[in-house]
Amino acid sequence: MNNYEAVNCPVCNSNKYSIKFPIQYESDGVLDKLKIDGKNVKVKVYLCGKCFHSYANPQLKGDLITEYYSKLDSEYYKTENPPIDDMITEDNRIINIIKKYKNSGNILELGCGYGFLLKKFERESWNIYGIEPSKHASEFGKKELLLNIKQGFLTLGDFPPQFFDVIIMSDVIEHLRKPNELFELIKHYLKPDAIILIKTGNIDSLYAKICGRWWGYFGSWEHISFFSPRSIEYLLKENNLKLNDIYFVPHFSGFIKNLKSVVYSLTVILVKNLIKSALNKFFQKNYKTRQLLIAYDHIIVVSRPSDLT
Ligand SMILES: [Zn+2]
Repeated sequence: MNNYEAVNCPVCNSNKYSIKFPIQYESDGVLDKLKIDGKNVKVKVYLCGKCFHSYANPQLKGDLITEYYSKLDSEYYKTENPPIDDMITEDNRIINIIKKYKNSGNILELGCGYGFLLKKFERESWNIYGIEPSKHASEFGKKELLLNIKQGFLTLGDFPPQFFDVIIMSDVIEHLRKPNELFELIKHYLKPDAIILIKTGNIDSLYAKICGRWWGYFGSWEHISFFSPRSIEYLLKENNLKLNDIYFVPHFSGFIKNLKSVVYSLTVILVKNLIKSALNKFFQKNYKTRQLLIAYDHIIVVSRPSDLT
């Protein structure tokens, strides 16, 4: 049974593209849960010829993705251990950016995971709401952190129209097959002067360009859309949203840790990968290359409805 299907550009639906390179998933164990072969599928990164968005092709079929996120928990949730709040630096960065625009009101986080970020907003007197498909993560947020989280996906009727001052999507948009459909819903729930904060990987970052096909971001099959400042602005414009500000940020904690990961990745892992690739090519070996660690390769985009009516 073929579980994958060819897709058009997720941002503009164009079928004009050029192929950048093949990628290899590292997270085969997760696909095993769905009884899907992740090793032999030939996934490549396509560059859209119209909006210049990059995306994985082919992609897992939509119903399999929905089943995966709803029933089986994301690969980021280690269900056997109690969760640790290990994104404190990232969360504080988001909170400080939001404070530049808003200080109180109704805030919704889509894909809120365990709810650690929402809990921090709650302490600062925001009215918080979360949506999270993972049963494991949303249960923790509800029971342990006592948060208002809906398990599942955002749908029409979840909240009153024009309800939110802030909507956050942190490390979410790269997982979506049809981002335009979600933005249709989001717009329905935004107050006219609301802001949307989106954090995602930046395929145009220097680090991603140096890493090429070994960029750590490509290791997860959950990542199917690879945004750049240009393609995210295109997506926002198509949805009558304006790109207000863009921040170039690292993904994991502070400067020293990231610097170490960059140095280690670019010397040790890159050299090893180059040797392995050469051996594979010339001597028909089958050495597995390693994805490089993630460093300064994310963007945080702040967006607003473009017509303030
Ligand atoms: Zn496109």
